[in-house]
Amino acid sequence: MLKIINPAKNEVIQELEEDTPDSISRKFEQAVVSQKQWMNKNIQKREESLLKFSEFLLQDKERLANLLSSETGKPVTQAGNEVKATTARIEYFLKNTSKVIQNEMVLSEGSLQEVISYEPLGVIANISAWNYPYFVGSNVFVPALLTGNAVLYKPSEYASLTGLAITDLLHKSGVPKEVFAPIIGGGNAGSELLKQKLNGVFFTGSYATGMKIAEATGGKIKLQLELGGKDPVYVCEDVDISVAAASLADGAFYNTGQSCCSVERIYVHQSIYDEFVGRFVKEVKSFKIGLPNEQDTYIAPLTRTPQVRFLEEQVKDAISKGAKVLTGGKKLSIESSQNYFEPTVLTGVNHTMDVMKEESFGPIIGIQKVSDDKEAIALMNDTEYGLTAGVYSQNINRAKTILSQVNSGSVYWNCCDRVSPRLPWTGRKHSGIGSTLSHLGILAFVQPKAWHLKGLT
Ligand code: NAD
Repeated sequence: MLKIINPAKNEVIQELEEDTPDSISRKFEQAVVSQKQWMNKNIQKREESLLKFSEFLLQDKERLANLLSSETGKPVTQAGNEVKATTARIEYFLKNTSKVIQNEMVLSEGSLQEVISYEPLGVIANISAWNYPYFVGSNVFVPALLTGNAVLYKPSEYASLTGLAITDLLHKSGVPKEVFAPIIGGGNAGSELLKQKLNGVFFTGSYATGMKIAEATGGKIKLQLELGGKDPVYVCEDVDISVAAASLADGAFYNTGQSCCSVERIYVHQSIYDEFVGRFVKEVKSFKIGLPNEQDTYIAPLTRTPQVRFLEEQVKDAISKGAKVLTGGKKLSIESSQNYFEPTVLTGVNHTMDVMKEESFGPIIGIQKVSDDKEAIALMNDTEYGLTAGVYSQNINRAKTILSQVNSGSVYWNCCDRVSPRLPWTGRKHSGIGSTLSHLGILAFVQPKAWHLKGLT
């Protein structure tokens, strides 16, 4: 049985039956058969189901937010924001999918026609992370279902109740049970799923697991990986310091720092460094730490207990190499939970320290002084990851010049920790392969067919 633990109470709230090798292969076989029927439906029918699903999310927002909060510790207000914002992503896909996958005549000359059509991949696996289960799940299963695929959906073991709630609402919306089937369990269930003859694997999670999945699939099928980040931001000397500090503190600490695109490293021009750090620390000290089910909580417990020790180690390593802790730095117990970590700001940091190189995935940030744009660019690029990067400056040309030299999938000017359904979500280097969202994140779920049509003359 899979134990679902509320990290804010340190207690088991539910036990779920896990999928077995037999149940997984049964679900796969059923998906193979049902996918054909699903694919042959008119796309409008599939759109109607996804529209209904979106309406259910809004109607049920409060219950879903509480459920998500109870199993991950996500502050309930942030959980509600996630459920609501998911409907905007669905709206994008509903408006654009049929346009993006319609047949394209690329040549019509005498009796010859050349046409591109798009067909679904077939049965795909959607193996998902827990930190934004609605976002990272729907980025995959919404366009996958709309384009006529069947989805074997493995929610994270830390967000399985949410995964089952999503499943339930999709079925209520008219998506057949065999076309969208949940796979419940941890890593073992995930690796069992990969033994099926899938037509595609779409994974969101850590680099370490991503590498195991790449090895298991062995380049034989379509694979997309959305992995971690160590996202840098450079603050130039010409900014409004208060505005930049407030924006970046939110970008670093929202969702208790457990976002793939959290700001994880800040580089500040030396001429405003002290003032920026002062304002930043003031912002961080104003964050309300509390129980996830309280509406005004901003920092809540970490979802996974081992992450507390991981952050302690990053702080210890940084201090031993000369860093200073300006606020936070320690774990914290609230009621019966020891999963809390104080929002932590480190200065005097450099790239010999883990906190500036390894993904922290928690409420902790290092701020480093730089002397010019060249040094900032070099430090921003000194990473194995390449998910997002940002520049804060009054000067768009300066920001564009810097950002064009940074090797990451998304770049931000005067904003951070932001995802848009209209733009591809894509990582470079250890941050992943392939794109979700945008027209690229629709085309990811279809395969092209090239039609050479020559009339007999
Ligand atoms: P994780 O890698 O521990 O788990 C992700 C999923 O993989 C879970 O469902 C898990 O059960 C499954 N899994 C584990 N071992 C497996 C195996 N051997 N075979 C198949 N499946 C297996 O990651 P997590 O803790 O859930 O998520 C945190 C990580 O995800 C962070 O690194 C974060 O940056 C990243 N993330 C990236 C994005 C993005 O869009 N780039 C979004 C959210 C999270």
